Amino acid sequence: MTHKDALIVGAGFSGAVIARTLAEAGQSVTVIDARPHVAGNCYTERDAETDVMIHVYGPHIFHTGDEEVWDYVNRFGVFRRYDHRVKTTSQGAVYLMPVNLHTINQFYGKTFGPAEAAAHIAAQASSDIDEPANFEEQAMKFIGPDLYGAFFKGYTEKQWGCSPRDLPASILKRLPVRFSYNDSYFAHPHQGMPEEGYTAIVAAILDHPGIELRLGTEYEAGMEEGFGHLFWSGPLDGYFGYALGRLGYRTLDFERFTEEGDYQGCAVMNYGDSDVPFTRITEHKHFAPWESHEGSVCYREFSRECGPDDIPYYPIRMVEEKKLLADYVAKAQALEGVTFVGRLGSYRYLDMDVTIREALDCARGHLAAQAAGSPT
Ligand code: FAD
Ligand code: UDP
Repeated sequence: MTHKDALIVGAGFSGAVIARTLAEAGQSVTVIDARPHVAGNCYTERDAETDVMIHVYGPHIFHTGDEEVWDYVNRFGVFRRYDHRVKTTSQGAVYLMPVNLHTINQFYGKTFGPAEAAAHIAAQASSDIDEPANFEEQAMKFIGPDLYGAFFKGYTEKQWGCSPRDLPASILKRLPVRFSYNDSYFAHPHQGMPEEGYTAIVAAILDHPGIELRLGTEYEAGMEEGFGHLFWSGPLDGYFGYALGRLGYRTLDFERFTEEGDYQGCAVMNYGDSDVPFTRITEHKHFAPWESHEGSVCYREFSRECGPDDIPYYPIRMVEEKKLLADYVAKAQALEGVTFVGRLGSYRYLDMDVTIREALDCARGHLAAQAAGSPT
């Protein structure tokens, strides 16, 4: 059998960046993916009916403060500036999200300046919580019960299928609270959308003579025979045949509908009320404001528990998962010749820029260890 340097499972950003880094170092690698397309969950495609670019597995906005990662993705396609601004519907009104001075003034019917708004929120918030132990305590400490009830409680129960008291505070820390009119969803200096979608970017990363790509190919035990190393960006528990049990994920269902013209006037509208069963509606054409389309494609997004045949989206990481994760990590660390990478391989929520950063570091570390003659 011909020897190749690495078998890489998964043709998302993790697998593609590792493959490219090894190939550029002169190695010969094979990338497989069970799906019939590259780009993993970042996959985009043009809608046959309207020609709108669709984010098939949910809305993806590229944002980063990592200069090298930004330069890296720009090598493989054109990114257009896109500033993500989210709205949220709650109790019959539309507000700006994340919570900012406009949200606060509109919600309380006030004309506060920044310091007055901060003082007003501080008066609502719980001052006796030093270290928030969960999502709800984090909300109580920083925004108080009114804003929490209107914008976070219902949404979070729908998104995660449990009480916010059972979720880590870190989930809420992803969102800022601003006492200014800055309503940008992300704070990073670079924000953008690939002009031709993420699929084209990942396909360009994989386009190298040292990379063989096999789509529609599910990993089978022993496939790595004849390869120097296995990089695994599939589910960590899946590699071990779920021997210790399944790590919990939330999955998403998207209900597609089309409209003439403009349905909601923005890319993403969240729904904070618990009696609305979906979490948000994405209107995809607003991700490409430089394009013009008469028709419009929208996705209503529903979150639910992930079954064995569903696509895993969000790792839950609650107490029981943490114990199971530690057991799987111990099994993974005992292996030689296999490296677990990416959002599924490490069972973490990773933004695209962090995924690319970790994949670059992983491949470079692997090459350096090989050069030094150490096992990886
Ligand atoms: P994936 O993209 O999941 O790729 C893994 C690949 O492995 C898949 O293609 C899968 O088919 C394949 N695979 C798995 N098991 C096997 C097997 N046994 N055999 C063969 N192939 C296999 N990030 C941002 O920066 N901005 C955003 O706005 C953003 N929005 C998001 C919205 C949602 C709803 C979600 C869930 C995530 C979002 N992300 C966002 C995160 C982004 O999706 C991830 O950073 C990215 O997908 C990670 O890439 P990956 O290659 O690690 O994993
Ligand atoms: N969240 C919320 N209401 C909103 C937006 C977010 O309650 O309108 C909560 C929800 O629990 C979510 C978390 O804040 O999981 C982090 O928000 P983010 O936008 O980062 O969520 P993601 O990108 O993971 O969907």
